[in-house]
Amino acid sequence: ANGQHPKQTESERERKSGIELGERVNTISAQVKASIFASASFARAAVARTVHRVARGQRPPLSLSSRRRRLSSKPLSKGVTGTTTRAMSSFQNLGFSSCFDSGNGKLVTISDVGGLPIMRVNITNDPYTEVDGRAHKMWFHFKVSNLRGLQGKPLTVVLPNAGDCSYPGGWGGEALKGTPEGAAPYRACFSVDRQNWLRLNDTSYEDGELRMTLDAKAEPALEGADFVYLAYFAPYSQEQHMDLMATVVASSAKATVRTIGRTLDGADMELVTVRGSAKDEDAKKVWFIARQHPGESQASWWIDGFLRRLLDPSDPIANALLAKAVVHVVPMMNPDGARRGYLRTNAAGANLNREWQTPKLDYSPEVFHVLREMHEEGLDFCLDVHGDEALPYNFIAGGEGCPCWSDRLAALQKEWCDAYERTNPDFQQVEGYPVDKPNEANLAIGSNGMCQAFDALVMTMEMPFKDNANAPDMKVGWSADRCRRLGGAAL
Ligand SMILES: [Zn+2]
Repeated sequence: ANGQHPKQTESERERKSGIELGERVNTISAQVKASIFASASFARAAVARTVHRVARGQRPPLSLSSRRRRLSSKPLSKGVTGTTTRAMSSFQNLGFSSCFDSGNGKLVTISDVGGLPIMRVNITNDPYTEVDGRAHKMWFHFKVSNLRGLQGKPLTVVLPNAGDCSYPGGWGGEALKGTPEGAAPYRACFSVDRQNWLRLNDTSYEDGELRMTLDAKAEPALEGADFVYLAYFAPYSQEQHMDLMATVVASSAKATVRTIGRTLDGADMELVTVRGSAKDEDAKKVWFIARQHPGESQASWWIDGFLRRLLDPSDPIANALLAKAVVHVVPMMNPDGARRGYLRTNAAGANLNREWQTPKLDYSPEVFHVLREMHEEGLDFCLDVHGDEALPYNFIAGGEGCPCWSDRLAALQKEWCDAYERTNPDFQQVEGYPVDKPNEANLAIGSNGMCQAFDALVMTMEMPFKDNANAPDMKVGWSADRCRRLGGAAL
């Protein structure tokens, strides 16, 4: 206290500096762990929650490290008994990252269970969505690296908060008819080259956790891999969208790309217009929009296949269509949500497919700008392309519940669906959502709002995350290529 050190013997000083060094090492390793386990924003949120709880007279939550202890003392692998689990064991060199375009996932622990590594990864929330009364989550996309250090041992990746996701039915549910005995209805997507996405057969959903086991003996594609990407569905990032615009669309003599506004993050909202021999005044105004829900990457693969075929100068169907119609395409309705790795919202937490009655520039500018263009250009038809978490089928949802619904629209819808089913049997009309009762449609949903505003045939197109149960494919499930072909077939 007076600034003078108490007299110490040589050995006391050595002991003390040893303790100090030990403390410093502990502090540094705690910092390293903290940087792995908790981002600054997570820590800030945790502090805010604690302050809030204490203010309400509640017990503060467990610290991160005590929660980790609890997690790691919980038996992680059923069937393995008499083993203890240690966080940050010999598998600590495994790498993890979701810090890239459309990445989502936060590493919780890496444990050693009976000599086998288990990685626990939480899916992170979208911002809170007012109209849905919750923060959505379900999209995941992350990279696990340094796999060679495992020396051939299988790695199990567990998503412990899968059961808290927006559509838990998407992980489990009934086995798909036509799949082998014991095949899981949802199997995760993985890739070692970011081009080919395969289904991980050893995926299971139990007690609210999704478990994915990466074993080169079962999945030859993993043999000798340094790293692997895991995702809810084959990703189609904002960067890929920009590549499509620059390489396929901008170079086509038939197409123009126009920036019609900006998102809250400052990304361009792009409108592609494709013209052939039809004169504007005679042409039907036909619209296709995709990725209102950013986690539904199927929609981008669908649009990719659709645009490539529409812009192919040698495609006779494309040219015949463009003799009668001007085609407007918004390939990426939600660039911010896609880049941020969200399931359902834009940067502000807006579920864009609930914003079509009164879109706001400061909350849902994406819908605001597109709807303005629709009113300026006119709209005779629109397809809004999505993916559905639970149903293993391709189907449409129509505007039967809109006040404007009529025999004319019903006949057009029937004709369109019959033609689509003939052209590509991956589309079907048996399974789907319950049809809205007359006058009960939610007009804030894009397809209903447009149907009512333009008295036109407007439908929501849904594709599965799982597979098409009428034609399952155990290797790729419902895949990027099948989405592309379904998109091309829509011509
Ligand atoms: Zn959707």
